[in-house]
Amino acid sequence: MTPTETRAAIEQLGLRPSRALGQNFLVDQNIARLIVGAAGLRDSDTVLEIGPGLGALTGLLLDRAGRVVAVEKDARLHEFLLGRFGKRRKLELVHADALDVDVAQWAPFKVVANLPYSISTPLLTRLVESPARPSLMVLTVQREVGDRLAAAPRTKDYGALTLYTRLYYDVRRAHRVSPSCFLPAPEVGSAVMTLRLAPHPLLEPELEAPFKQLVRTGFGQRRKMLRSILPKSELGDWVKPDALDAAMARLGLPMTARAEELSLAQWLQLTRILVVPSPPAARPSS
Ligand code: SAM
Repeated sequence: MTPTETRAAIEQLGLRPSRALGQNFLVDQNIARLIVGAAGLRDSDTVLEIGPGLGALTGLLLDRAGRVVAVEKDARLHEFLLGRFGKRRKLELVHADALDVDVAQWAPFKVVANLPYSISTPLLTRLVESPARPSLMVLTVQREVGDRLAAAPRTKDYGALTLYTRLYYDVRRAHRVSPSCFLPAPEVGSAVMTLRLAPHPLLEPELEAPFKQLVRTGFGQRRKMLRSILPKSELGDWVKPDALDAAMARLGLPMTARAEELSLAQWLQLTRILVVPSPPAARPSS
């Protein structure tokens, strides 16, 4: 939608765009086309759109995907979308909080969304953690979240969100988006990120939980050395000081290493070394 059409729709609805709901509507059609184009949609695809708003992306998604599920929390916007697109058979409009819906019901699916900034991190975490992980996500997020997703080790943005996401997804920044592309303009810039599901898991399923515990604990006190945090934490039962020292030496890490110094590959290796498989159950003697 153009800025004029968007203003008219906002006025027609008597809407005062809510900051809490991250209601910044996209008015730059080139960016809308770029976002939808990045999803490489086909007729066989189901797309989940979170926060369709006034439908800036929804119309383009309907032109390309076989099925579009659009989950909007604001009742007035949901009603507006029913009026604007209600007759399109491949569209399912859902009036709900995206944090409350079970996305697995639409699997397999892709996600394309200009995420409401207030929930971008919890929502992203839920999608990444879902057993029905989307095969591809094209997400517009505030620049700071984009920086965290794309961060390299030894930078301030590198952290648990970076590593949890990269455990499953290849992450790229496709485009930077200026605040002037939205109405009203947000205070910060945005980034379009593509997250493509890795073809093969990087870690054995039984090691995912320990990996996340290690990462979360390590970054919980990111300025401290791992050897002064991990063995003293609740992980102390299985992260013994000697075993951690030996693991760090095997990985060529200095004993002073802090969480942000380890690459994803090193976190994966550290998990594998520290989690000793339990011995097979004793066989009954014949
Ligand atoms: N997709 C539209 C666009 O590109 O112009 C709107 C994007 S706007 C950044 C975010 C949208 O998410 C708003 O329509 C807002 O009402 C909706 N929203 C906010 N919180 C939500 C939630 N928890 N669940 C579903 N939708 C939500």
